[in-house]
Amino acid sequence: MENLHHIVVVGGGAGGLELVTSLGNKLGKKHKARVSLVDAGLTHIWKPLLHEVAAGSLDASSNEINYRAHARKHHFEFQLGRLSGLIAVIKPL
Ligand SMILES: Cc1cc2nc3c(=O)[nH]c(=O)nc-3n(C[C@H](O)[C@H](O)[C@H](O)COP(=O)(O)OP(=O)(O)OC[C@H]3O[C@@H](n4cnc5c(N)ncnc54)[C@H](O)[C@@H]3O)c2cc1C
Repeated sequence: MENLHHIVVVGGGAGGLELVTSLGNKLGKKHKARVSLVDAGLTHIWKPLLHEVAAGSLDASSNEINYRAHARKHHFEFQLGRLSGLIAVIKPL
């Protein structure tokens, strides 16, 4: 596990969730890489549904994806958190 590349996807939105699910199924499942998702929230909801939630015609809780449950099913780790910056570490060759 320690020697594996660690792929971290920040943001489990429409793009990030599809990416991390695919990476988890392809690499995480076969232990070819450690795959993680970091998101500021615990759940994902497809934004085009938001107007229905706002209008009260759709129950958000029954249409959202829980990141922890989804991560377990698709072989990646989930970390609740908000990215606030990046630090570049340059190693001499
Ligand atoms: C009301 C509404 C209706 C829409 N309708 C349509 C439609 O009909 N058709 C269509 O094609 N598109 C539609 N869109 C646009 C579509 O939803 C976006 O293009 C799409 O969601 C963008 O995907 P994304 O992965 O880039 O970001 P998002 O889906 O916005 O996801 C970003 C994720 O990153 C997380 N995040 C943000 N900042 C941080 C941080 N610093 N650290 C950790 N996590 C962070 C957020 O919590 C979120 O989960 C609509 C958008 C809205 C708001």
